[in-house]
Amino acid sequence: ATPLAMIRGGGMAAERGILMRSGEAFQIMSRLRTVVLDKTGTITRGEPGVETVVAVGDYRDADVLGWAATVEAASEHPLARAIEDAAEARELPLGDAGEFGAHPGRGVEATVDGARILVGKPAFLAEQGIDVAAADEYRERLESGGRTVVAVARDGVLVGLVGVADTVKADAAEAVSGMRELGLTPVMITGDNERTARAVAEQVGIERVFAQVLPEEKANRVRELQQQGRRVAMVGDGINDAPALTQADIGFAIGAGTDIAIESADIVVMGDRLGSVTDAHRIGVNSYAKTK
Ligand code: ADP
Ligand code: MG
Repeated sequence: ATPLAMIRGGGMAAERGILMRSGEAFQIMSRLRTVVLDKTGTITRGEPGVETVVAVGDYRDADVLGWAATVEAASEHPLARAIEDAAEARELPLGDAGEFGAHPGRGVEATVDGARILVGKPAFLAEQGIDVAAADEYRERLESGGRTVVAVARDGVLVGLVGVADTVKADAAEAVSGMRELGLTPVMITGDNERTARAVAEQVGIERVFAQVLPEEKANRVRELQQQGRRVAMVGDGINDAPALTQADIGFAIGAGTDIAIESADIVVMGDRLGSVTDAHRIGVNSYAKTK
């Protein structure tokens, strides 16, 4: 096969901000069946904002947010940034944090002014033996609306909840229906809980959802789909997504992406349009057809 059409295809892709790092990705494109999409930063804008803070018991909202922000200052997670920004907007003073510990895909902890503060998904706090039942009703309501709830505990006692919203990208629903038109089945993968994930998936028209997938398990989910005989693309932006990008037949790094995601990808998409995935597919299929 002459690589000329593929080179031209690469040029057309580059004009659209799509960089093909492997020629092989082009050739596989026509046999692609499944597109696995990370939720945060891929389907959503990846710019979560704090909507609500609710204190439990005798604590004040400002205490809850201030403690959470003090711990999150050491984390680079998008949720951490949202919590820090909210504390800053309310001009809350941060305490002194020490003995920081990170639990990837679950949460973070540190000692703040002598107390152990744990911040993370409610299921993770429950695993640590913290009673989160007081939060159930509020959490379910927020999650049904596609929000993520971050729970905050102090010395093993739940002290409050932070409701965070991350809106879906403007072109996400259109890109998902474009994938279906090309015969591709979109699948969402996320470390977030099932209810939040389903609500977001519904907003963009995705039916199949893998929720509560720990960072180290994302690549396994991709492999399982491949073992069912499908060619699988993975689209992601984060450090957590790198092994899955490598495992996939075609890895797409989208948005600013982290360096490690970019290095693990076959195709790098500049900008954050999800429609770049279907653009790349069309260009790949056309270019390769012309080489045969
Ligand atoms: P995603 O797959 O959506 O990119 P992650 O795997 O990074 O998400 O995280 C999964 C979940 O773990 C988050 O939705 C959140 O509930 C929790 N989590 C992870 N890191 C943090 C953190 N620094 N602060 C609070 N919660 C966190
Ligand atoms: Mg992500």
